[in-house]
Amino acid sequence: MPEQTLILDGARVAGEIKEQLARRVEALAAKGVVPCLVTILVGDDPASETYVRMKGNACRKLGMESKRIHLDSGTTTGELVDVIRGLNEDSAVHGILLQHPVPEQIDEREAFEAIAIAKDVDGVTALGFAQNAFGYAAYPSCTPAAVVAILDYYGLPIEGRHAVVVGRSPILGKPVSLMLLNRNATVTVCHSKTQRLNEIVALGDIVVAAVGKPKFIQGEWIKEGAVILDAGYNEGNVGDADYEACAVKASAITPVPAGVGPVTIAMLLKHTVDAAEKSTVEGKL
Ligand code: NAP
Repeated sequence: MPEQTLILDGARVAGEIKEQLARRVEALAAKGVVPCLVTILVGDDPASETYVRMKGNACRKLGMESKRIHLDSGTTTGELVDVIRGLNEDSAVHGILLQHPVPEQIDEREAFEAIAIAKDVDGVTALGFAQNAFGYAAYPSCTPAAVVAILDYYGLPIEGRHAVVVGRSPILGKPVSLMLLNRNATVTVCHSKTQRLNEIVALGDIVVAAVGKPKFIQGEWIKEGAVILDAGYNEGNVGDADYEACAVKASAITPVPAGVGPVTIAMLLKHTVDAAEKSTVEGKL
């Protein structure tokens, strides 16, 4: 790897965000408010259990409250929606996170849409997505927010750059594309039907890997000096870009792990603290 390749250290970015949040949590505590995130896990997927535990631990470390609701794998859409509606009504709850994926008998979209916009700290509702697309106040999906936060932390310019996003999922590829567009990047969004993907990736000043396939983005596709944000996380702790090969060409790159992942959790905490602060003033989000 060239000595000048900047490793975008997600742990460092997350650490700084959390330091700032700790002060805001203290200020809220002085007003008698403890930011509270409720995570809902349906079924027994071990990876999901790990993610939920990590999010809960991160909350508690910061002096926030984290409640976990674990529902049986046979839960119906109606039962899940009822639980979410109950949380919407509970003024002690500031953020609701429904861990994806849910068992297949559940209509995940219907469940996501049941989350009140003011508590949609994970940015999963269609309304939240639309508000973000328009650039209005709403909590963006946490991983797209993390990608932008990393670029900003390192002062890497977005405006006028050609950003190539590989992936168009509703929680990652699409929202990150819109966020970069709102920051005046020229954005190309690629997906499984894209032709000559290598040639398109080679045009990217910024490349966001959001494919869900290990080491999918090849080093030879990367333009010399590009900035690579690898949002992927696959078995064996590997990202969606071939890290070693891409780092040779890139001017800056996120590692996996300790790149986008820790910042994603920090953004979730930030959105929950934002929601708790908003709950203390009139004219909530
Ligand atoms: P997803 O819903 O499976 O979406 C994958 C996207 O990649 C789809 O848009 C798909 O295109 C596209 N794609 C698949 N094969 C392709 C190909 N051969 N060429 C070009 N595009 C292709 O995945 P996701 O939920 O967005 O997650 C993507 C990655 O991010 C995963 O590795 C996941 O683990 C990771 N992730 C990380 C975090 C974090 O905190 N770091 C959070 C969320 C996700 P089509 O639309 O045409 O099918």
